[in-house]
Amino acid sequence: MSGYAPVTPEIAAQLEAICGKNYVIYRDEERLEPYSRDEIPGHHYRRMPEIVVRPQTTAEVSAIMKLANVERIPVTPRGAGSGLSGGAVPVFGGIVVATDRMNQILELDKQNMMIVVEPGVIANDINEYLRPHELFYAGYPMSMETCYIGGNVAENAGGGKAIKYGVTSRYVLGLEVVLPSGEVMELGGKLLKDVTGYNLLPLMTGSEGTLGIFTKIILKVIPLPKYQYDLLALFPDSRTAIEAVPATMVESGITPTSVEYMDQESFRSACEYLNETLPYQDAGAMLLVSVDGNDPEKMADDCEALGTFLEKHGASVVYVADTPANSERIWKIRRNVAEAFSLYFPRQSGEDIVVPPASIALVVEQFQELAEKYGVTIPCYGHAGDGNLHSRVSAPDSWSDERWEETLPKILNDLYALVAQQGGRISGEHGIGCKRLAYMPSVVSETYLNVLRSIKQALDPNNIMNPGKIFMV
Ligand SMILES: Cc1cc2nc3c(=O)[nH]c(=O)nc-3n(C[C@H](O)[C@H](O)[C@H](O)COP(=O)(O)OP(=O)(O)OC[C@H]3O[C@@H](n4cnc5c(N)ncnc54)[C@H](O)[C@@H]3O)c2cc1C
Repeated sequence: MSGYAPVTPEIAAQLEAICGKNYVIYRDEERLEPYSRDEIPGHHYRRMPEIVVRPQTTAEVSAIMKLANVERIPVTPRGAGSGLSGGAVPVFGGIVVATDRMNQILELDKQNMMIVVEPGVIANDINEYLRPHELFYAGYPMSMETCYIGGNVAENAGGGKAIKYGVTSRYVLGLEVVLPSGEVMELGGKLLKDVTGYNLLPLMTGSEGTLGIFTKIILKVIPLPKYQYDLLALFPDSRTAIEAVPATMVESGITPTSVEYMDQESFRSACEYLNETLPYQDAGAMLLVSVDGNDPEKMADDCEALGTFLEKHGASVVYVADTPANSERIWKIRRNVAEAFSLYFPRQSGEDIVVPPASIALVVEQFQELAEKYGVTIPCYGHAGDGNLHSRVSAPDSWSDERWEETLPKILNDLYALVAQQGGRISGEHGIGCKRLAYMPSVVSETYLNVLRSIKQALDPNNIMNPGKIFMV
């Protein structure tokens, strides 16, 4: 028993009165189904909402929350549904608040180098909009062509440029948030500094839709770097490639924009998925290293120095992509590894661990030992330069579903323990959601969990805001 009230026809009628009949989906299995899941494959992370509402204004969101709070109905905010932790899955049914109609870029404030957007704007559209102004929003999740900026803020998304530019929270200067009570709260603003009370912005950023719904976001923008060069370094094996990562960060003397790692299984799967026929498919592993800036001569020097450095650290060959078309060809492979794995490995668990950057080679090696111990594969790829690795624990075809269900928790317990031994955490950017909730006590203390619970209780005493996520209340 969840203790939540159901969505009755009377409640549905009230929600229709708030949003308009056309923007409410009720008692229509086929149209409700896409809101029952995010991008985690498999039936475990699916739950049908009772109703979906698609508000367009803050006032509508506020009215929905007031109603839900009075009636004790759970509410799950939803962006594009590209999440990889089940964050947008309505695990207790109830109301899904889809933000797709709140999709306006409200203001570009060039004087202050800031942009004000609604949560349903696709992340990549912000940069398309900024490009003619020679400005840039530095968030760069690999899903940027689909995910919404509201979802990025809720997950504190990272991505391919985090080494140089940091993650989403570095750029969030202000938020308008509808609280679980329906009250509307402004946080921060067009300010580069602000110590007026507790710093609630970073608390909201990464709160996974459990503390409120963002309805307006103020982001810092920066000058658009004029050039980007990408180096693709091929290595004979994964160990040599991954050991070159911390060395590049520490010893090369150059701060790259990205250092992305792909083992053989990762890039082969992505190439197959894209029908891409690169001539270097036989490499054992790859590093994709990028630099950006405004001085092409300096960048050419940096590329040459990085290339020489990578060769010294075991790269058998280093290609330089110095045209946008070549760069896009390489990055497309990297961006599609996750999609390819989801398609080719039906029984798999996508992990998102983060460790101190210097420990990355050790955990990759330990994961391969773990894979051998359990007779599974654990291909790895990801943002290795910042210690964040995506590992896909995948069952052999011969395994039954029962064997997989029984063994996976043991593998994950071991895998997370290895990560914890290095001072790491179980998610670097995808979030805890419902996928990793059960494993939280293994990596954080009870005191830490109790502080999270106290914050939740203070803001959402009825526990209606995206319940069943991050931790057990
Ligand atoms: C191919 C692929 C590549 C990816 N690459 C990356 C990557 O490089 N880096 C990375 O960080 N992630 C990556 N992701 C994961 C995902 O894209 C991000 O987590 C993204 O931020 C989710 O945005 P979304 O709009 O799809 O949110 P959803 O999946 O819809 O929701 C995610 C969470 O945000 C909450 N939420 C959504 N909108 C709001 C709002 N307005 N107010 C409050 N809460 C809200 C939801 O309740 C949920 O908890 C990838 C996913 C895929 C499929």
